[in-house]
Amino acid sequence: MQQVAFDVIVVGAGMAGTSVAAELSERCSVVLIERESHPAMHSTGRSAASFIPSYRANNPALRLLTRASGTFLKSPPVGFSEHALLKTRGLLTLLKGVSPQASQRGLKQLNAVLEHSIVELPAADVKKRLPALSNEWLSAAWWESDVHDIDVHSLQQGYMRALAEHGGRFLSSQHVQPHWEQGAWHVPIDGGIFSAPIIVNATGAWADEFAASAKVKPLGLQPKRRTAILVTPPADYDSEGWPLVLAYDESFYFKPDAGMLLVSPVDEHDSPPCDAQPDELDIAYASDFAIQALDGLVINRIAHSWAGLRTFAHDSTPVIGFDPTAPGFFWYAGQGGHGIQIAPATAKLAAALISGDDNSAELNDLGFCAEWVSPARFF
Ligand SMILES: Cc1cc2nc3c(=O)[nH]c(=O)nc-3n(C[C@H](O)[C@H](O)[C@H](O)COP(=O)(O)OP(=O)(O)OC[C@H]3O[C@@H](n4cnc5c(N)ncnc54)[C@H](O)[C@@H]3O)c2cc1C
Repeated sequence: MQQVAFDVIVVGAGMAGTSVAAELSERCSVVLIERESHPAMHSTGRSAASFIPSYRANNPALRLLTRASGTFLKSPPVGFSEHALLKTRGLLTLLKGVSPQASQRGLKQLNAVLEHSIVELPAADVKKRLPALSNEWLSAAWWESDVHDIDVHSLQQGYMRALAEHGGRFLSSQHVQPHWEQGAWHVPIDGGIFSAPIIVNATGAWADEFAASAKVKPLGLQPKRRTAILVTPPADYDSEGWPLVLAYDESFYFKPDAGMLLVSPVDEHDSPPCDAQPDELDIAYASDFAIQALDGLVINRIAHSWAGLRTFAHDSTPVIGFDPTAPGFFWYAGQGGHGIQIAPATAKLAAALISGDDNSAELNDLGFCAEWVSPARFF
């Protein structure tokens, strides 16, 4: 039986596990292990692929991880990807039903912490940016220009390539159930055992379940299902340059997606960890909202629908750090709805905490505190 020792075993090849494995591979021996046949088959492959600096920007951890990740996404290291990782999209937040005072209060709070200010547009200007917007939804809106589509596939592939180039290993189709013995974590795999003093739990919605299987106390992380559909845009408009459009009350969002329109009813249903499937009712809500918001939208057929899990800690802040009670057990979980847009900075932070080399200088300069995301806050 083959026995192989590594410095670190990373479990789960979504965006979290892949990015941290790639960062670690520059300084130590690492293996990334995934249960499915390919990386990114769960939440990572099902996201809306958006980079939105204002999204939950009142949470300093999420705001600063987003800002530092933006630096990487806008200007990745030479050779990381053949394609640009970001494509500018912009975000219109429709202020239907929001009083001018509430809008100004909200803007002031956001602009106090954002790098690029959001401005309020009058309804006439909103109509110019989105000519198909229905009268029912026509209102003033916030315009955030620093919002982008993320090329999730290229980002994931860039990290997979970096992992391989630095001698890291990737193993798929292996359901990891680790045990701690004699100062190391041991992972039985087909035909052998991998061992390492450090194991990284990057199993997304399964993070608590994975911890329990390793006899580590779960943290009460909650996966929540979110749905998206693809429909044909209204025929009379060229939708490709439309912005991402969000209702202020978060009842829906939509954006162009490769010639189609991606629509989400922004649902959040508690779910066990699983291969999430869309619910008919959420598909119907998404269709209804889009039809109400867009003139000329006829939905004869849903071209594609899917659901994925966004996993949250009780304070909606990611959990990044060593478990205070289980030796060598590193949490990399609870990224909620931010796991793609915060990946580059979060991976650097996690690699710094694991290896002890400080390579998260940009985060430090921004005033980031590792305590904000530490699992120690659960004990
Ligand atoms: C509809 C939707 C829209 C979203 N939109 C955005 C967005 O616009 N921007 C953004 O930043 N984020 C967005 N998100 C959130 C983002 O997708 C997640 O935060 C992110 O993908 C989480 O990545 P992860 O690596 O933690 O989890 P995952 O991608 O789920 O990866 C976890 C992996 O662990 C593997 N695994 C689990 N248990 C084991 C085991 N025992 N052994 C081996 N492998 C195991 C799983 O198979 C899986 O591949 C969205 C999510 C959804 C569902």
